[in-house]
Amino acid sequence: MDKYNINTRCVQEGYNPKSGEPRVLPIAQSTTYYYETGADVAKLFDLEPGFMYTRLGNPTLAAIEERIASLEGGVGALLTSSGQAATLISILNVAGAGDNIIATNAVYGGTFNLLGVTMAKMGIECTFVPTDISKEELKEKIKDNTKLIFTETLSNPGLEIPDLEMFAEVAHEAGIILIVDNTFATPINCRPFEYGADIVIHSTSKYMDGHAVALGGVIVDSGKTDWNTGKYPGLTEPDESYHGVVYTRDFGTSAYIMKARAQLMRDLGSTPSPMNAFLLGLGLETLHLRVERHCMNARKVAEFLESHSKVKWVNYPDLKSNKYHERAKKYLPNGSCGVISFGVEGGKEAAMKVMDSLKLAKIVVHVADARTSVLHPASTTHRQLSDEQLIESGVLPELIRFSVGIEDVDDIIADLSQALEQI
Ligand SMILES: *Cc1c(COP(=O)(O)O)cnc(C)c1O
Repeated sequence: MDKYNINTRCVQEGYNPKSGEPRVLPIAQSTTYYYETGADVAKLFDLEPGFMYTRLGNPTLAAIEERIASLEGGVGALLTSSGQAATLISILNVAGAGDNIIATNAVYGGTFNLLGVTMAKMGIECTFVPTDISKEELKEKIKDNTKLIFTETLSNPGLEIPDLEMFAEVAHEAGIILIVDNTFATPINCRPFEYGADIVIHSTSKYMDGHAVALGGVIVDSGKTDWNTGKYPGLTEPDESYHGVVYTRDFGTSAYIMKARAQLMRDLGSTPSPMNAFLLGLGLETLHLRVERHCMNARKVAEFLESHSKVKWVNYPDLKSNKYHERAKKYLPNGSCGVISFGVEGGKEAAMKVMDSLKLAKIVVHVADARTSVLHPASTTHRQLSDEQLIESGVLPELIRFSVGIEDVDDIIADLSQALEQI
């Protein structure tokens, strides 16, 4: 179905029933698969195509993996049980104890901890760099044992936009890969592979699911990476746990995603349930419509906030005043996302007062779903960061993260208006 436009692929890609089969993707609620002969099963252990056990693959998951791979323009995808699992597996697939990785410091709080604390305990050192690092400085950060650069298309919640093409160029010159977390932009607004990214990951718990019903993640392989740079023996040398499979030799452009599935999903087991994959599929069917409306509403809300006397600053890349506006026009020409951050006059106390006064917008520890929601990161998601780290990652004490939903924008603005009157 790759010949269809992205809006069509959101709705239909990945499932094409034969005559008499269910029109809607069935939920294959089965851990196991029947085979007629022992020889048929043996082939599965040589990594021939086919379902062996749901931890490693399932027809419902496979359909959604195919859809997301197509939306991003990749060759294959692996669904995971959460966005965190996607980040972890995407990195462990190419880096291990003794290796270094580089990440931008404005990444999602959960990612910041995973990379900076938990991975450090596993022997993987992370060098954090500013999103706006220059090309020369970024080059200098790469060491002999650096295996990848990790960034977000739009950082959560700072909405910083890295120069993806420059990051990809620097990575490739050093023979390493660029992994991009594309959660906030979604493939509707940005496809990082078009700018040189090698691997894309998502927390599908956000816009892809869209309704806040199912946690999930996904890793997508561009299929364009040159793995033969001497940096990735795990992909180019025999895997003894599959009696000598060489991923690049045996699976060509799908080497990375095959290894992630066959080795890491086998060993770590963070597979989503078929039910959750089905729910994700339902969400994807309207992704293109929702993202368009989220952006339309968010633009109007951002303009309203920018003109309000009690609002100190508004951070939304689609605004002309925004530091990242030029980059947004290049990488996110159709709009960025529905998430806005803004600061109110009166600091942390006033921010919490506004938040508590909102009626339509509900306080939740989540963003990027159909319902408008609000959060104060400094006292919640980013509470584990020191004041210095907070400012470094762009999260000021007065910052309110406002996730604009797909309700009527006039109602959202009226709600904000009455809440701002309270301070
Ligand atoms: C939420 C989020 C994650 C983590 O995803 P979970 O599904 O909550 O595990 C990772 N990256 C970004 C940008 C996110 O917003």
